[in-house]
This record gives sequence, C-alpha cells and structure tokens, in this order.
Amino acid sequence: MSLSVRILGASGGIGPNRRTTSILIDEDILIDAGSGVGDLTLGELEQVRHIFLTHSHLDHIGFLPMLADMVYSPDAPPIQVHALPATLKALRDHVFNWVIWPDFTCLPSPERPLLQFQAIQPGQQVMIGSREIHILPALHTVPAVGYGVMHNDGMGFAFTGDTSSSGALWEALNTLPYLDLLMIESGLPDEMDGMADLAKHYTPHRLADDLEALHHQPRIAITHLKPGHESAIRRQLQQSRHASRMVLLEGSERFELHAQNRALKVG
Ligand SMILES: [Zn+2]
Ligand SMILES: [Zn+2]
Repeated sequence: MSLSVRILGASGGIGPNRRTTSILIDEDILIDAGSGVGDLTLGELEQVRHIFLTHSHLDHIGFLPMLADMVYSPDAPPIQVHALPATLKALRDHVFNWVIWPDFTCLPSPERPLLQFQAIQPGQQVMIGSREIHILPALHTVPAVGYGVMHNDGMGFAFTGDTSSSGALWEALNTLPYLDLLMIESGLPDEMDGMADLAKHYTPHRLADDLEALHHQPRIAITHLKPGHESAIRRQLQQSRHASRMVLLEGSERFELHAQNRALKVG
C-alpha cells in the first residue's frame, strides 16, 4: 500500500502554468479547491468524495463551485466538505448564496444534495478508509487549519495551508505519529517581512527558524510562492540548513509515500 499525494496547484497566484492550491490524496480526498482542480478530468472529479478546506480565501476555494456543478450524478452520495464553521459560513453567505452560485447543499434536493458541509475543529481526527485526517491549527488572517494525513501502514503527509509562525502548529505537527512529507508555504521573500506579518504568511527566514522546532525529519515541499518573487524566495530558502530536504513545488508533482521507502518522488 502507498499514500499518493498529487499536487494540482501550488502557486500564490495566477499566470501561465500557475495554479492555486489544491492537492489530491489518493483518488478520493481533495485538500483545498484552488484553480489546480481545473486540471482534473471529469472521471477524476467524479471520484472525489471528501474535500478538506484550509480556509475561506478565494485561491483555496475558488473552483469548489465549478467542481460541484460538474459531478452531478443521481446515484452518488453527497461529497463531504470538511472545514471550520467560519469557513463553511463564508461559503454559505458569499458563494453558495444563489447569487454567485446555486446552493448545492440543497440541490438537487435537500434530502440528497450534491455537497454536505461538515464542521471540524483543530485537534479533531476524521477517519476515511485507511487514512486518518488530523486537523492542525494554523495562524492566518481568517480562521484557518492545516491537515495531517496519516495512513494506517505508517506513512504521513501534512499540509499547513496558509499560515504564519505559530507555536501551536509546530506542537501539533510534532504529535503526528509519522511525517514523511511536509508541505508548507513560504509565500513572501524576507524583504517583505512587514507584509508577511500583516498577511500572515511565512518568509524563508521565519520558516528556517521555526523548522528547528520540528522533531520529525520529513522532506519539505515549499508552496504558495508569490509570482514575481520566486527566485528571491528560492535563494533565501537555500540558506536554510534544511535546504537539502526542501523541494520547491511547481504544481504538478506526485509523491508516493511507502512505509519503507519514505517520500519517494516519482513524478
Ligand atoms: Zn489565505
Ligand atoms: Zn492562499
């Protein structure tokens, strides 16, 4: 058995070959629904049964409405959308409000809708088949979480979502039983530290400092680089003593995690 982590989007913005945040776990679990979702085929979209959202920002939820519209099948059970109560409220109030998009939580019928919203909280775990999803606390400008995906066979992946420096996040990462691959943002370069503080994103310097608190030794996949600042962020990350374990995501990588062959990148 293996745990498949397919990066669909890992950019902090748009442009040629840039997609915003989305990750497919195996075939059935999506984490965030940014523009990377647009590269999935109809057949792949129809296999998604659970969507875990990190927060309400558009670059992470923007393609959820379109996904819902694509996958209608009268026989399929509702897709479960897991998120913080504040994120679900934002979706209800501002997206699925019959103005921006129809409310697919009561279509085609309230008894058997396309989407079902499930409220989650940091510290909680959700079991889906052989994978246990741990909800991690994150620190952003809106309520936000990250996710740890633990496979029964002893493989672990974690994604922080958008976050700034937070002791609670690193404590939670340290309590995960396994961590082979950590996907974390480093959205802004060091010279934009003031902006990073306001927008609650990591910079390479802040990330290098905080990685010292991590007890696991995972591969580190860096995401959410702001377009136009990629080369500066790359240069600054290379100064970290963890640089040899880092990979800067381009947005089309696939990782197969095996219990013995940890964080083997195959594509
Ligand atoms: Zn955000
Ligand atoms: Zn974002």
